[in-house]
Amino acid sequence: MYRADLHIHTTASDGVFAPSQVVLRAKEHGVNLMAVSDHDSILGIGEAAEEAKRHEILLISAVEISTGDEGNIHVLGFGVRQDSQKLNALFSEMALERETRAERIVEKLNKIGLPLTMADIPAGKGAVKGRAQIARALLSKGYISTMQEAFDCYIGSGCPAYVGRTRRDTGDMIALLKEEGALPVLAHPGLMRMDRGIAERNIAVWKSRGLAGIEVYHPAHADSEFPYWHGVARKLGLLVTGGSDFHQPGDKHADIGEMLACWSSCDQDARALLKALT
Ligand code: AMP
Ligand code: ZN
Ligand code: FE
Ligand code: FE
Repeated sequence: MYRADLHIHTTASDGVFAPSQVVLRAKEHGVNLMAVSDHDSILGIGEAAEEAKRHEILLISAVEISTGDEGNIHVLGFGVRQDSQKLNALFSEMALERETRAERIVEKLNKIGLPLTMADIPAGKGAVKGRAQIARALLSKGYISTMQEAFDCYIGSGCPAYVGRTRRDTGDMIALLKEEGALPVLAHPGLMRMDRGIAERNIAVWKSRGLAGIEVYHPAHADSEFPYWHGVARKLGLLVTGGSDFHQPGDKHADIGEMLACWSSCDQDARALLKALT
């Protein structure tokens, strides 16, 4: 019986736990199938895979690629290969873009009276930088009292220190993942800022580019959205996945294994995913 969590961040992107630590946490929480899915990076997978072997946890390599910016569109690539030249080139490019963007955000924060330097941003060696780490830096400086405040007042869309990401075409990223042997799954479809009719039409188009599934069981989805997105997956013949999107205990995401409470079809969905990966 699979108890899965297929969306987990580590210090290779904006999570606070190292790859080996998220595996230990998964073990503690009774998870036996997990995916490490850092933003635009696969550098955490090697360490996590080693640790998972020691604990009889099945680890799926994954990545979460940011495509649209305002629309919050993220594509998970399950079974991503660590030796893909094309993807490694893309991730190097994205890491540089994130570095430059973080510098611009820091400059803007300085301008509005919040002194901060790049050295204040917590990031592991080789880690890609994201706004969550900048929010943690603002928190540890005492400028804000919750991470949410950073996104609401300073670095969120429409705020004075907001800097957008380079946009990439979602269909192109899906096609690239597929071409490189990974299984593309649309992350948290409920977070895309578009109405349901448009979302469904887009998903059908993305399926024609290689989209294989949608992430139905995500903490940003309300309980009423689970049956809806599950229905969309069924209608379009797509796989169903789920995960906590764990970054750190107590933030707006969930903890490892927490989505199992509402993901009653987990075992069946996990088996279908594993079959598609072979
Ligand atoms: P970025 O990829 O740099 O644009 O940062 C966006 C990421 O920040 C999202 O994928 C979330 O992981 C994280 N995030 C967004 N809003 C919040 C929040 N209110 N609290 C904590 N993390 C957040
Ligand atoms: Zn994140
Ligand atoms: Fe995401
Ligand atoms: Fe995520």
